[in-house]
Order: sequence, then structure tokens, then C-alpha cells
Amino acid sequence: MKRIVVLGSTGSIGTQTLEVVREQEGLKVVGLAAGSNVSLMEKQIREFMPSFAVMWSEEAAKELKLKIADLDVKVLSGMEGLVEIASMEAYDVLVTAIVGMIGIRPTIAAIKAGKDIALANKETLVTAGHIIMPLAAEKGVSILPVDSEHSAIFQSMNGDAKERISRIWLTASGGPFRGKKTEEIRDMRVEDALKHPNWSMGRKITIDSATMVNKGLEVMEAKWLFDVSFDQIQVVVHPQSIVHSMVEYVDGAVIAQLGVPDMKLPIQYALFYPDRRPMEQEKLDFFKHSNLTFEKPDTETFEGLALAYEAGRTGGSMPTVYNAANEKAVSLFLNREIGFLDIPRMIKAAMGNHKLISNPDLEQILQTENETYDFIERMVSKEK
Ligand code: NAD
Ligand code: MG
Repeated sequence: MKRIVVLGSTGSIGTQTLEVVREQEGLKVVGLAAGSNVSLMEKQIREFMPSFAVMWSEEAAKELKLKIADLDVKVLSGMEGLVEIASMEAYDVLVTAIVGMIGIRPTIAAIKAGKDIALANKETLVTAGHIIMPLAAEKGVSILPVDSEHSAIFQSMNGDAKERISRIWLTASGGPFRGKKTEEIRDMRVEDALKHPNWSMGRKITIDSATMVNKGLEVMEAKWLFDVSFDQIQVVVHPQSIVHSMVEYVDGAVIAQLGVPDMKLPIQYALFYPDRRPMEQEKLDFFKHSNLTFEKPDTETFEGLALAYEAGRTGGSMPTVYNAANEKAVSLFLNREIGFLDIPRMIKAAMGNHKLISNPDLEQILQTENETYDFIERMVSKEK
């Protein structure tokens, strides 16, 4: 029996992880954590009977405690609670399906406790990859990708030596605004940006897909997961989202993983690796996909992607600035306080304003995050 803890259990990846638990034998949920959705958390607890549950706010935790007073489940709250369940003794794999940099501390705590990580929370690796990857190696724990592209790369590498890999082709759907030019996307509203053509995901990552910042974060995520240089990572727009990414070898062979767009496959693969389990799901019918197409990304219109390469190549604290500026700008956009193109504009301004720290420790990363949030807030209030 593999015992798992799911951080972000009420979200898109979290609920799909629990579907996998429902469908497959051999997984036991021992801890769940979420932000504020008390009613869904209660349902999940009654179904999966974990020993621990965490709600982000103390208020939500209190409410949850009352609702499940009849059960023997320990309820915790806040960052302390997240770190406590991530470090507890009695489990094997941490599923990080939380959104944003909030995932850094619990992920580090779990690695220190020797737990394998099924990683969906890319923001953690983007900002703290230089701490997490060496720590994971030292502790002998595996970081298993859940992000569909990275799972595809992982599957296509299949343990082959890094030296034999020449390039990664990271596929991108292009999002809802693919093919549009700057003037056409300037006035896009929240509703337009939330209409992803192929994937149903949380709100933040859906906006990130529309700006192509998601692909930028994924470039940095790939760099850390697979220890390749930025020159070896090529983004290719593939609107059908059937080829989930590809690995090119030194002899020119290209190995890809294909499938219908469904996050349950990468989640399941990460949880059972190196095993493959049968899965009830629509299978790929090549007769229905006679037109798989590939395009160069338009980094002029979708500047967020170009800025990610810049932040990644600069390294140090710059990826944190890129990520934190984006997190803040996306939440302002979702609150209708700024426009769509303000997102990359603000990332660029924050990066330009930042004084680089070349090898930031955890405190410096979190401080850079706060300084970046403040910078964006000041920028917005000045422009009002
Ligand atoms: P989501 O918004 O649907 O869910 C986020 C979850 O995190 C929710 O359960 C929420 O309650 C919880 N959460 C948020 N803030 C919290 C806090 N402070 N404390 C505790 N819990 C908190 O997001 P999602 O789409 O599931 O994405 C989760 C992560 O997975 C992101 O990093 C995203 O980039 C990545 N990812 C998602 C997909 C996808 O298909 N949804 C695909 C690849 C990668
Ligand atoms: Mg992805």
C-alpha cells in the first residue's frame, strides 16, 4: 500500500488525484490540505478517511473541526500545518497540487523527511529548483513530474543517459489566443482568457496558458527536472495537445509520448512509476487525428515566454521575480484591476527593477517574493 498526502486536494489536480485513488488499488490517502473549500474537504475526508487535514485559514480549520467532530482526524491550519503533514512519518509520497510559491516550504520539508514527490506545483521548482534538486539527490528521493509535458519527457527519456539527449521539444497548445496579435489581445477579458481550448484546469494556470507564461514556467521546470540547458529546450506550439512533448537524441531520433489530453494519466504514472496501470479512458484514435500540426511560438505577442528564458538564463533570484510578479499580476487580472497585457508588462518591469541575488537561500527567495509583490502593488497604485 502506498500512502499519500495531497496538498491542494480540492483543486483540479487534487480532485483528479483522488479519482485515481478511487479507481486504482494500492493507494491510501493519509493527509489532505486545501485553501478554503471546507464543504468539499469534509466530503473528501468522509470518503478517504485520512489521519490529518489542513485548511489554510484558521477560520476554515475551525469550521472543518466542527463539521467532522465525529471523526478521528487531526485538523491543522496555515503554513505550520502544511509543513507538519508534509514532514509526518507515516506516508510515502507527497502530491504537490497546491498553486503558487506557497508550496516551497512543505515540499522542502517532505524531501527532508525522505518522501518522494509527485510534483504538479511547478512554481516551487521554478523559484527554488536550485535548493530542491540537490536536496532531493542528497536524500535519495524522487521528484516525479505530474505536469503533462514533463511526464511526457520523463516517459520519453525512460532512464536513458542524459549525454544522449540533444534537445527537448516542449509542446504548447498556444492557449485561447493562439494566432492573435498584440492589438487583438489587448482588451481580452477574464472570461476570454479562461476559455482554454483543450484542458480544464485551475484559474491561475488557465490564465498562465493564455499569456504563455505557463510555458515559460515549464521551460524552467524542465531545466531543473532534467538537468538540461536552456538552449536545449525548444517550445513548439501544437494546438491539438496530442503530442505531450518530445525528446531528441544525439543521433536525431525523436521519442514522443502521445495521448488524449487527460491529467489522470500523468498523475497515475507518477504515483505508480515505474509500473503502468490499466486506465479507463478514451484511447487515442489516430484515424480521428489526421492533422497534427506544429508551429513556432510567437514570442513577440506572447512576451511572457521570452521573459521566462531571460529570467531562467539570468538565474539566481530572477525566476522568483518572474514567478512572483506573474502570480500577483494574474490575481489582479482575475480581480479585473489590470488588463491582459499588463501581466507581461509588469513581469518585465519587476525583472528590470530587481537587484539580482546569485544564489538565494530560502529566506531570500521568500523575501524576493514579497518585494516583488510590493513592487507590483506600488506600480498599480501609481498608474491608477
Ligand atoms: P487549482 O486552483 O484548481 O487548485 C489549487 C489547490 O490548492 C486547491 O485545492 C486550493 O484549495 C489549494 N490551495 C491554494 N492555496 C492554498 C494555501 N494557501 N494553502 C493550502 N492549499 C491551498 O489549481 P490546479 O489547476 O490544480 O493547479 C495546481 C498546481 O498544479 C499548479 O502549480 C499548476 O501550475 C499545476 N498544474 C496543473 C495542471 C492542471 O491541469 N490543472 C496541469 C499541470 C500543472
Ligand atoms: Mg503543462
